[in-house]
Amino acid sequence: MTIQAASFRELRLDRLSRNFGAHNALKDVSLTIRKGEFIALLGPSGCGKSTTLNLIAGLLPATGGGIWLDDKRIDPLRPEERGFGMVFQNYALFPHMNVRRNIGFGLKMRGLPKGEIDKRVDEAVALVKLQSQVEKLPGQLSGGQQQRVAIARAIVVEPPLVLMDEPLSNLDAKLRLEMRTEIRRIVKDCGLTGIYVTHDREEALSMGDRLAVMESGNLIQVGTPMDVYRNPVNRMVAEFMGETNFIEGTLLRDTSRVGLFDVETPVGILRGRTFDASFIPVRGQPVLLSIRPEALSFRDVPDSPNRLMGRITDTSYLGATVQYSLQANGHAMKLCDLNPEHVYPPSEQDIRMMVAPKDVIILRK
Ligand code: ATP
Repeated sequence: MTIQAASFRELRLDRLSRNFGAHNALKDVSLTIRKGEFIALLGPSGCGKSTTLNLIAGLLPATGGGIWLDDKRIDPLRPEERGFGMVFQNYALFPHMNVRRNIGFGLKMRGLPKGEIDKRVDEAVALVKLQSQVEKLPGQLSGGQQQRVAIARAIVVEPPLVLMDEPLSNLDAKLRLEMRTEIRRIVKDCGLTGIYVTHDREEALSMGDRLAVMESGNLIQVGTPMDVYRNPVNRMVAEFMGETNFIEGTLLRDTSRVGLFDVETPVGILRGRTFDASFIPVRGQPVLLSIRPEALSFRDVPDSPNRLMGRITDTSYLGATVQYSLQANGHAMKLCDLNPEHVYPPSEQDIRMMVAPKDVIILRK
């Protein structure tokens, strides 16, 4: 692949803030993005994702903090001086220009010779697989094709950073799935550094090298997709990243094993772990447990911890999984059985479930 990402080591957000009147839309956000990294920025609506992206792009001024590209402070620069590639939800293509001219526009503005522009546009067109569409106007393309043009246009200038703001949200579900893979392939093939804003957790999990989860203007957790899914730092992250069972309890005692604690709950005593090194709960402390439905199973190993009883109230067979709703001592729970060979119907009888202590996450209440 000849499209090469510009050379730098890292982009650093240093206590970046943005107020809109009295509203703090972004509060002291610090984050370092290394060259070649693709970061998915996610969180619920209004948490400050687009504001973060707009500050990095230079479309909005910050009210506090700074943005650094290696040793150079870039937040005083205008958007065109930063030279970042942008891909938006609404494509933002020039309607009167064909695909080739749309993609080549940035190169022409930079005054590149025609031969060089043609060569680089051809490469970008091949990368997004639009060779047969180059003469068409945006209005003659499907949504997915238009987004490919927007991506090609953003990367053809070899920007240090590509910023994408929910680029797939106008596409139908099937195309979104295809484009997820496509965008990741393009980003990785070209060694691009990028930030991808989404509120879709599956998009974030499948596309990001790391995820940055925001809530109410704060950056709450940064980690690999698996880290954030398996080791959420609080209730919001646990819930936002996927379905989970929350069970309130009281810390009973710590065990001999490092990081494992016993918690008294309405469904019995459960052994779990903390992940956040700064959180060491003490005896008698109210805590919250998070257990993913797929971590529970209908197994029964005598004398092992975390055996609980529940009554199946609803069964939903989905082929690859069976989703169960249960009542465990009056507490509603979900269990997801993967690759099922047996389907248990709803019943008045209690059934035994188990969960490994490593899959019981103890959170602050
Ligand atoms: P969504 O997923 O819905 O796009 P988001 O996480 O991208 O949300 P932002 O668009 O960054 O959220 O907005 C963060 C907060 O700042 C919101 O409360 C929003 O109402 C507010 N906000 C954003 N832009 C402005 C503005 N120009 N003037 C006033 N308030 C704004």
